[in-house]
Amino acid sequence: MPHHPGQLPTLHHHFASALPEMSVSYTPRSAEGAELGVLNEKLAEDLGLDPDWLRTPDGLGFLTGTRLDPAAQPVAQGYSGHQFGGFSPRLGDGRAVLLGELHTPAGRTVDIHLKGSGPTPFSRGGDGYAALGPMLREHLVSEAMHALGVPTTRALAVIRTGEQIVRPNTTDPDKAGVFEHQQGAILVRVASSHLRVGSVQYARLLQTEQHTGPLARLLDVARERHYPHLPQGDYLGLYRAVCQGQAELVAQWMRLGFVHGVLNTDNTTLSGETIDYGPCAFLDRLDPDTWFSSVDTHGRYAYRNQPSIIMWNLARLAEAMLLLVDVEAIGAELEGFPAAYRRAWLAHMGRTLGLSAHLQADPATRDVATALIDELPGTLHAAGLDMHHFYRDLAYRDLAAGTAEAPTPQLRDWIARWGDFRPDRAAMAEVNPLIIPRNHVLNAALNTAEAGDMGPYLRLLDAVTHPFRDSADVRELDRPAPPDAAKTTTYCGT
Ligand code: AMP
Ligand code: MG
Repeated sequence: MPHHPGQLPTLHHHFASALPEMSVSYTPRSAEGAELGVLNEKLAEDLGLDPDWLRTPDGLGFLTGTRLDPAAQPVAQGYSGHQFGGFSPRLGDGRAVLLGELHTPAGRTVDIHLKGSGPTPFSRGGDGYAALGPMLREHLVSEAMHALGVPTTRALAVIRTGEQIVRPNTTDPDKAGVFEHQQGAILVRVASSHLRVGSVQYARLLQTEQHTGPLARLLDVARERHYPHLPQGDYLGLYRAVCQGQAELVAQWMRLGFVHGVLNTDNTTLSGETIDYGPCAFLDRLDPDTWFSSVDTHGRYAYRNQPSIIMWNLARLAEAMLLLVDVEAIGAELEGFPAAYRRAWLAHMGRTLGLSAHLQADPATRDVATALIDELPGTLHAAGLDMHHFYRDLAYRDLAAGTAEAPTPQLRDWIARWGDFRPDRAAMAEVNPLIIPRNHVLNAALNTAEAGDMGPYLRLLDAVTHPFRDSADVRELDRPAPPDAAKTTTYCGT
């Protein structure tokens, strides 16, 4: 049912009711000086919320969780997590709250969740707040990912709280890491759910020796929410579906050169959506050893490691589910992950390179097309080209000119062999974006936004959320970082 302006939207609390031991009741503090920073009007409409109403004081009260339908039961969710390989049994929403679940006009159920909403019993010494720059960053990158067709949490709004908080600088290369006062902000996040591998780990910890406790209930909630076609009690099927979703997701990240940055088990969802845009970034040159996060001192979450790290996280999920599934059977599912990932990667690269039909042709053609795909990352890395511009040039440019300009003989040879296939260039134009959010461009826009001018941020947001639309803005805002620029460092927990 669409919501009627003047009435507070109905929020459901299925998670809070079904799993009382996995959350604590939490009512966001008053937000006196709050102001709307960005509102995603299109998403609001899809959710059945009236954008004009969201701009009223009542609407802002809804978006800050301070004016909710009395039946709502906002909670901070508990979860565990392997962070950089080490297990933290009790993480949870240290600066976030699940306001509740909303039923959309299209019949979906989504979480309405605030990030930066104040300290909770899970804050562990953190202040519970979030700064404007990182929340605007998540809003823009998550919406760009959605526009690129990648499963992801969404961003409904960013609200300036009017409060000052202390944080290291993350956007100005000259002041990076220096502590300073920053403006507080809340991100209103919309997700299929906030159930994570870490949620299952937490449920397992709360489980008693007997088969009573939250583990089965949590998995039932996840199944109903994300995989309703599965029969009740089919935990192995649920695990297989999560593995497939994650294989598909990480294949999309890899084809787009996306580096998530903190692939802890608490940042790996059961829904298959990307979650938590802290220290993420897109590669420009395809260097597989690239990572950006300031806290990732050994490159655990570098670009090339992402598929195996996701598999590692899925192994932790399997362990947490062992009480309810046969160990051999779930082990076999886990072992199927590399093949599932490879299928997804080949399918995405087939589309990227206009070779989808060749991948489904006779075995000989398929083998040659597969070899071309497999050779490309190394060939592109050696050539040192911007990967996005390279794909785009393949789709749009005169092939002979592209071959002549390729910087290495290997790449010239690769382009010639690729051209012999008569790839489907029209199909390529549908999947190769004309713009991705470049960190150096985004950081400059965030700096200006922090100084009070939202203009460049909104212009970039508009461009990256229409990544297949050509315009002068797109061409200007998609410039790669200068080759001699210092590697971008990104920060999480900020
Ligand atoms: P994240 O890096 O956002 O995935 O956060 C990892 C964990 O740290 C989660 O449990 C967060 O709730 C918690 N956390 C991050 N920043 C803060 C903060 N400023 N105050 C309290 N908890 C935080
Ligand atoms: Mg997180």
